[in-house]
Formats: sequence, structure tokens, C-alpha cells
Amino acid sequence: MPDAPRRIRPLPDLVANQIAAGEVVERPASVVKELVENALDAGAARLAVDLEQGGIELIRVTDDGSGIDPDDLSLALAPHATSKIDRAEDLDGVVTLGFRGEALASIASVSRLCIRTRRPADPGAWALASEGDRRGEPAPAAGPVGTSVEVRNLFFNTPARRKFLRTPATEQGHALDVIRQLAMVHARVGFVVRADAREVLALPADQSPRERVLDILGRDLEKELLEVSRDGAVAVWGLAGRPSLARGTNKGQFVFVNGRAVREKTIQHAIREAYRGLIDPSRYPTCVVLVEMDPRAVDVNVHPAKAEVRFRDSSMVHSVVLGALRDALRAADLTPSLAQATRAVHGPVDAQDLAAALRSPPGDGSSHPSSPGVSPGTIRDALADPPIPVPIPARRVLQVHKSFLVAEDEQGITIIDQHALHERVMFEQLLERVARGTLETQRLLAPAIVPASTERLDALAGLAPLLSRLGMEVEPFGPDTLAIHAFPSFLFDRGVEPEDFLSGLLDKALSGAIPPDGEEALREVLDMMACKAAVKAGDRLSDDELSELVRLRGEVERSSSCPHGRPTSIHLTIRELEKLFQRR
Ligand code: ADP
Ligand code: MG
Repeated sequence: MPDAPRRIRPLPDLVANQIAAGEVVERPASVVKELVENALDAGAARLAVDLEQGGIELIRVTDDGSGIDPDDLSLALAPHATSKIDRAEDLDGVVTLGFRGEALASIASVSRLCIRTRRPADPGAWALASEGDRRGEPAPAAGPVGTSVEVRNLFFNTPARRKFLRTPATEQGHALDVIRQLAMVHARVGFVVRADAREVLALPADQSPRERVLDILGRDLEKELLEVSRDGAVAVWGLAGRPSLARGTNKGQFVFVNGRAVREKTIQHAIREAYRGLIDPSRYPTCVVLVEMDPRAVDVNVHPAKAEVRFRDSSMVHSVVLGALRDALRAADLTPSLAQATRAVHGPVDAQDLAAALRSPPGDGSSHPSSPGVSPGTIRDALADPPIPVPIPARRVLQVHKSFLVAEDEQGITIIDQHALHERVMFEQLLERVARGTLETQRLLAPAIVPASTERLDALAGLAPLLSRLGMEVEPFGPDTLAIHAFPSFLFDRGVEPEDFLSGLLDKALSGAIPPDGEEALREVLDMMACKAAVKAGDRLSDDELSELVRLRGEVERSSSCPHGRPTSIHLTIRELEKLFQRR
């Protein structure tokens, strides 16, 4: 027989706080995040972070911000006590990083904490110590203006949680990732980080957003990053990596909303979409995107560690971010250099730059807003004129091995994969015709007959709306054949056989390679058409065809990569050639 139901009673404070801490404080990095956010909210111009044993032994965050009223000091450690919001309505339009009033209480309940603070007008500092649920009394102390919070022996009273901590090196890595994220979006604030008394990161105060991001990602990536900027109710600033910087994980992606590092599906999708066709779909572009908007249009109260946000109008945010990224990518000549193309294949050569900087874990909250005293490097400072595209007109073109084209231009030579480039050209032309409704169809004098299994007939039924959009008229014809009555003229002109094309398409559908989403399916099929219609490796091209193909390269979008995201062309400057031959 089951036990009689136990009585319901309120939990003791310590237990309640420790449960709350479970949501907020997972590891030293989460403590670092909360303390640095508090320092930023307090308007710090400079802050220092000290770590010992990756933060497991000690985390100390010292700032030169506003300080705390000594009469409020005990309250700072109390649960649900905050100076940042008063009423429920204030949650609608939070401009500080903190607002939950929970962090210090949670951290204190699982550590030995000491807070020392002094406001600019106070004659001296005050300090308060606590150990788990044992809270001391505020007492006068010596110290400069600002606040220093010291957290020792994290999880000393919750051994089960302590067990989940990893090695000091790993914990330190996570803590540094969090600091880099926060620093990236607070360019005006100086940061110094010391680990076991050794300086591991130093960022000067008053940097521009661009300088700050480059200091963190690595200066040597400057040429690989394109500036993104758009002003408006939703303002966007960022740096978008060239396709050759794409990686196998999303660790090179940094997304911030109103100074907070967030995981946000809408923006992630916009990034993916902007790079569609420029990189292999299984890879992630490197890019930093800072979005600023009216705080009332973002709900920040949706995640205990404040790592997620929700937009009131997410489709607007999506289109602004997508537009800004697209413009930046379109404006640039994305043809990779030999070094970039090599990097895309073998990964970063100068490893440390990207690798070190891009280790950061997806999604740790961070920060900035216009709280009193905070002077973040507002992204509007950084909004600049869009970059100008650099088309390099070819002077002469040569076909080699019936597969590659070599085009000479002012600065060097471009080597082109004829099939990949032609495929992209065909794809863009098809896409444009479908969008405009000008894809012409040719009726067949006698229908083309294709043998078809029941599965194929089923697949045909599923594809019907797509096929008619593409000007293909196909019907079942008897129990085991189907008939093609009309076919796009474009493909006919390129010598594509209707029967072959349809068979290939149905096989593809049967193998599950056609995505369920209408637009994606359309792209997949257009890609197939483009591939079939394009010149192949091994096709000899006439002089006219050569120059036409090279001319189109300058006209169609995304011509630097084929629809699968592989490069169509590689550029080699004379300087690079000279270097390769050791002339320089
Ligand atoms: P929240 O940041 O959500 O308000 P916290 O528990 O992190 O909650 O902090 C509680 C309060 O303590 C803050 O609202 C703020 O008034 C004060 N505080 C914490 N850290 C600092 C700091 N570094 N400088 C000034 N005030 C601070
Ligand atoms: Mg806080």
C-alpha cells in the first residue's frame, strides 16, 4: 500500500535558494556571467575578472561602477531583490542585463561570498560576507569606488553539483567564452582577465564595435569579414565571414540582441538563409550579428539564465537581419583567394586565431543596454556606408583540359570550374524566371512516355504542385507508365531529355532527397535542372561561350559558389603568384 500523502510545507530558504541556483548557476562560467552583467549594469568603465582553478576555487569581479548603498547591502543577497525593476509592467522594456534579482542570492547559497562596495560619494567602503545560508552583517571596510564580488569554493555545500564540474582548464575555457561574448558587445568597457594570477585577456576601454570584435576574433581575420550594417527601428551591425570561413559547428556565430548574447531561432535562421547557396548547407558561417531595437519589442524574461529572448514581431527582425546580411554578401566579391580556398578545405591554417576565439559555447546570455551610466559601444556608432563591390573584369579567357577556365584580370588570374559556374548561372536564371512567372513551357507533339512503378506514381502525385509551377505537365498513363505533355523550353534548349530528367527527379523524391518545405523543394528541383542544363567538365566551349560565361559571372548573384556551396572560382593575385615562386 502506498504511503499516506506527505504534508505540503514551504521549503526552508536555503533549499529554495539552492533550487533556484540550479537554474542559474551551473558552473563557474554562469557565476562569471552574472557578476560581469551586474558590473556592466552598474555602469562600469573598466572591470577585472580573477579566476583561480578555472573559477572553481575563486571568482572575483571588480568594477568601478556605481556601487551599492550600504543600507541595501544585505538586500543585494536576498532572493527576488533588485534595484532594476519595480513593477510587473517594468518587465516590458527591460534595459538592464539583470532584472530577476536572483543571481546574487543563488550564488551566495552555494558558495562563500564576499561583497565589498563603495559609492562615489561615500567616504569609505562597506563589506558583507556570507557562507551558504549564513549571512554576515555589513561592516565598514577599505576599498576604492565600485564593487568587488568574490565567490570562493563554489558548490562547497552541494557536493552533488560539485561533482559535475570539469577540470579547471575546461571551466576556465567556458568562463573565458562568456567573458568574450559579453566583451564583444560592450566595446566601450575595458576588460582584464587573470587566471591564476596570469593575464589571459586584456581589452582596452572605449573601443569601436569593429575593433572590439576583431580583437576578440583575431585581427588577421579582418580581410575575411565583411561589414554588415543597417539603421532603422531594428538596427543591425555585424561582421559576416566570407564563405571560406564556414565551419562544422556554430561556434563561430555570435548573436546579440540589445547587448545580450542570445540563442535565437529567428536570427539563426536569417543567417542560414543569407548564406544559402554560398556554403555547404551542413556548415555554419562565421559571423557576428548585433541587433538593437526598442526593448519593449523584445521579451527577455523567457529563460532563467536570460540566454533566450522572444520578439514581438519576429518576421520583421528576420527580414531586417536577412536583408542586412544579404546586402553585405552581395556587395562583396566573394571569389576566394588561393589561401581562403585552401582554408575552406583544410580548416584554419593559422589555427590559433579562429580556433581560440571561436571556442565559445552556444548561448550564454550577455549584455549591454542603456542603463544609467552604461555607455556601451552602441552599434549605431558603427553604422557605416555599405561596402562597394569589386568586380574584376576579365581581359582574356583560356579553357584548359576542357574543364577549367583561366581568366586574366588587372590584379591576377581567376581559375573557374566551368560546370560549377555554369550551374550557378543556370540556377539563378531559372530562379528569376520562376519568381517572375516567365519560365516558358514547350508542349510536346507526342507525349514522352516513362515507365513507372506504383511508388513512382505516388511520388509523382506528391510533386504535382511543384511540377506545374515549373511548367511541367505530367500525368499517369495507364497502370505502369506516365506521360510528359509539356516541359520547360529552357531545358529543351540545353538538350535535357524530359524522360531522363523526370526519372531522375522521381528517384530523388523516392530516396527522400526532396525536402517537404515548398520553397526548399523548389530550389532542390531547380538545382537539379541547373546541374543537367549546365556545361559539363569535358565539354569544349567556343570562344563566344567562354566570354559569355565569364561575363555572366559578374552578373548573377552568388556567382562565387555553385548551388551546393562549393566555390566556382578561385582568385590568385600576381603578388600571391610571386610569393609562390619565392620572388618576394
Ligand atoms: P539583478 O541583477 O537581477 O537585479 P542580482 O542578484 O544580480 O539581481 O543583484 C541584486 C542587486 O544588487 C542589483 O539589482 C544591484 O542593485 C545590486 N548589485 C549587484 N552587483 C552590483 C554591482 N557590481 N554594482 C552595483 N550594484 C550591484
Ligand atoms: Mg544581476
